[in-house]
Amino acid sequence: MTKSGWIFMSTERQDRYVSAFQRMIRIDTVSDANNGSDPENFAKFRELMWELFPHIKDACEVRDFDGSVLMEWKGSDESIAPVLFMNHYDVVPASGEWKYPPFSGEIAEGKIWGRGTLDDKSGVFAMMQAAEELAAEGFRPERTIYFEMACNEETHGKGAGDISAWLRERGIRPEMVFDEGGDILYEPIGGAKGTFAMIGVGEKSIVNMKFTARSEGGHSSTPGKDTPVARLAGFITYVERHHIFDVQLAPATVEMLRRFAPYMGMAGKVMENAGRLKKPLGALLPMFGPTANALVTTTIAFTMTGGGEAPNVIPREAWVLGDMRCSHHQGMADSMKEITKAARKFGLETEITEQGLESGITDYNGRAFRLVEEAVAATLPFVDACAPFIMTGCSDSRFFSSLCDQCIRFLPFLISGEQMDSIHGVNECLDTDTLVPAVDYYRYMLTHV
Ligand SMILES: [Zn+2]
Repeated sequence: MTKSGWIFMSTERQDRYVSAFQRMIRIDTVSDANNGSDPENFAKFRELMWELFPHIKDACEVRDFDGSVLMEWKGSDESIAPVLFMNHYDVVPASGEWKYPPFSGEIAEGKIWGRGTLDDKSGVFAMMQAAEELAAEGFRPERTIYFEMACNEETHGKGAGDISAWLRERGIRPEMVFDEGGDILYEPIGGAKGTFAMIGVGEKSIVNMKFTARSEGGHSSTPGKDTPVARLAGFITYVERHHIFDVQLAPATVEMLRRFAPYMGMAGKVMENAGRLKKPLGALLPMFGPTANALVTTTIAFTMTGGGEAPNVIPREAWVLGDMRCSHHQGMADSMKEITKAARKFGLETEITEQGLESGITDYNGRAFRLVEEAVAATLPFVDACAPFIMTGCSDSRFFSSLCDQCIRFLPFLISGEQMDSIHGVNECLDTDTLVPAVDYYRYMLTHV
């Protein structure tokens, strides 16, 4: 991975950050929907935060929402709308074979290893360390700043939901929200040979649906046609092979391609004109693989299946679960309508098992996006350009999008493709030399917001 020739020096400051961050990684704050989580470890983590960041703790009013934390740093001018910075401190389980134990915080190969080094204790650390330094220096913000750190983002996001409800009840509407999301990537799409800060300006909404095929049952030695499993198989194959959802290039995606253009050689000429070439590009992008496809359309992945009672009995019921990620242009309601129409062709019943929140798209010409661009230019000089993008995954900021129309999803860490794949996978790790610039980024944000 190149850092465009930029070399970070190992400094006293970096060493100090690394040892504090190691301590955060060593506390196992797994939130696990199936096996529950250990509340004692979460309490330990909060204790550690107050030990590491005593000045900002004292400067803030701290509220606890069953382990999720909201800190209020009162500004000197209460007439200005507040802003909210957020990151979560729970992590997903760490199964599989790891190179270094997932809760060791081992330093090796210029990296710190462990679950949460990327998602998202790195964000918690950089945000809190910056705030701590400023509070210790006697800095007081002009407008009120909230810090939100949920302890259950990876499961239901209940903490963020409760905190958003608490703010709403008090009529508190942050003007800008800054959450985790995109990272800094080299060559984020094939051929874009530059280092880009990928700034999430929106996220697709999630709907989980169960599709059930039923029959009268009967002995499997005399099967008829269209038995439940065959109908499910027909449906799954049909949905995978046909474009049942609308394909469209959102303005934010057009802008992303435009910003990649100068780094794309000949292909850049096309990307430069992405605005005028929306139709053909929209049709072309799905051919560039699943990531490009997910940018332009609603997707559905079939993730769980079950049914049948015995090897020699035609199932009376068989089902498959689909995890649908809805595009902004089609939305949840219309995407559900399309998939239900397809399911009906195969005689399937449909049921919504989980329905998420729809969130808007933040204007990349707005104040929040511009501020992030300024902060990146000032503190992360190895970045070639900032690019807006619509996230295919989701973040806790969706709980605040009804309170705030400028939600930015970005973490100021340079990571490789391999590190990207380690998020929710094995061998999650962060380069130790990314900590200092990340803290500088948050210092800039907190002092200029
Ligand atoms: Zn996360």
